[in-house]
Formats: sequence, structure tokens, C-alpha cells
Amino acid sequence: MSKEIIDETLAIARDIENQLKFYGEMGLEDIGGGSALATESAPTADSTDSVSAGLESAGALGAAQAPQAEPRVRDEEPAAQRTSQIGQAGLFGESVAAGQRGNSHRGGAALPVIDSRDPSLEAIREDIGDCLRCKLHEHRKTIVFGEGNPQARLVFVGEGPGAEEDASGRPFVGRAGQLLGKIILAIGLKREDVYIANIVKCRPPGNRTPERDEVDTCEPFLLRQLAFIRPEVIVALGSPAFQCLLRTREPITRARGEWREWNGIKVMPTFHPAFLLRSPDKKREVWEDMKKVRDYLNTKPI
Ligand code: URA
Repeated sequence: MSKEIIDETLAIARDIENQLKFYGEMGLEDIGGGSALATESAPTADSTDSVSAGLESAGALGAAQAPQAEPRVRDEEPAAQRTSQIGQAGLFGESVAAGQRGNSHRGGAALPVIDSRDPSLEAIREDIGDCLRCKLHEHRKTIVFGEGNPQARLVFVGEGPGAEEDASGRPFVGRAGQLLGKIILAIGLKREDVYIANIVKCRPPGNRTPERDEVDTCEPFLLRQLAFIRPEVIVALGSPAFQCLLRTREPITRARGEWREWNGIKVMPTFHPAFLLRSPDKKREVWEDMKKVRDYLNTKPI
């Protein structure tokens, strides 16, 4: 047997081993003969990643909502006062050719631009202050700014804090957060290596989906965080994060696993961990998506 074949076989074996480890860590016992790996279920309204219908609410709060039909949209132009629309400039002010914009071929709105880079994440947090800008402040306990490595190569963006995040002031610390922690470990990183943030920084009451005005008010702070960190990859967790970042109404069921681009940063859309708690069979897809992220980061020189 040639060395090439042996190496290839070993690589496949390692991949299978990692995959099984991932399933084990994520509590997936029945791997179902592998067919689900090959067959992606057709997107249906019920299979959408509806975070607010998500499991944290169902489990921890006992307030499950019915899954919403795709698309969950925030598809119109962002409010004028929120961001400047880019013609030629990218998020960081440099020129971005029209064809390079992540959603340009999908008819989404132009991506927003932030002209200047903040001196620190702390400066952004200070700007937020004890925020009263939108109605979410009325019920929140804590502003959940985001946390992690300010020089992270990888940023995860979720939808908005849940009850445990609201109580602790930290993103993704509930059940979905624990699952996210396992996902991070499975690709060979630690939570401290990455940065984790949300589209909105205050918990929507009852874990409902953030409303348009709330997103419009809060998202600029996320954009400033991303502009400061400037990661190599953003993982958009679930429809709201994906649709909001890429200004698209494309359902996550269709987009997941496909590289997109956002202001020169690669974006991997995938299912939200809260959705995985409800639909554990979808963990396989997430593993496929996360392997792409891992392989990209591993092959790209720092
Ligand atoms: N779900 C999110 O989208 N974000 C969190 O921080 C926690 C749960």
C-alpha cells in the first residue's frame, strides 16, 4: 500500500474519530447509520431555526413558542440614522467591489459601514452605558455586552440574551451556551479563544425574537465590536443573526454550511444551539459546518 493511501486512510480515521467524539460530547447517541450525514432534509417551515421558539425558553422558562415559518425577516433597508450605506466602502472603510459583498448576488440590502475603529471594546461598552435606547431596557436585568478574546480569529453571533444571560450578564451561559461550549471544544478551541456576542444586548421578554426597532438600535454596537475585533470568521448562529448580518431573507435551512462574506470576513451560517437542543438530529449538520470553520482556520496562516 502506498504511503499516500495510508495517510489518506489515517486522515479519514481521524475524522471519523473526531466526529464520533463530537457526537458523544453533544449527547448524540444514535448516529443512525450515517444517512443523515448525506441527506439534508428539505427546508420546511418547521425545520427553521427559530431561536425564540428555542429550547431555553421551552426548558428553562417553560414558555415555548410555536416555530415560526421562514423567512423571519429583517429584510428592508436599515434605518437611516443607524448606519451609512456603503457604496464602495466596506465595514472598515476600504473598497469592496460590488461582487464581493456577501449578499450582493442575493438581492439583500447593502451592508452597513463603520468608518472608524474604536480604541477598545471597553470604549464601546462605555458608549452603551446604562442603555435606555430601546424598549428592551424595561425588562432587562443586565446588559449582555459580549465576551471573549478581543483578538479572536473566530466570533460567534447569536440572537439575544436569554434568562440566564440576563441574570449573569454573560452571553451563552444557559443550556444553549453549554452546547455552544462543546461545539467550540470540538473544533479544538476554548471559549476564551473566541468572542461571543449577540445581535441585541438585552433580553427580549419571554425570549421573543428581537423586533426591528430593537435590532436597529442595538446592532451598531455589534458592528463596532466586529470592526474592532476584525475576526477571520464569523459564525452566525441561527436565522436572526444570519439574516441580520447579511441583510438577507434567505432561510438558514438553505444557507447553512455555505461560506458567505461580510465586509471581507468569512461568515459561516449554521443552526443556533438552542435549535439543536430541540432537534438533536441537526447536530450532524452543525458538525459539518464547524469542520469547515476549523479547517479554514487551521489552513489559514495567522
Ligand atoms: N441565545 C442567544 O442567541 N444568545 C445568548 O446569549 C443566549 C442564548
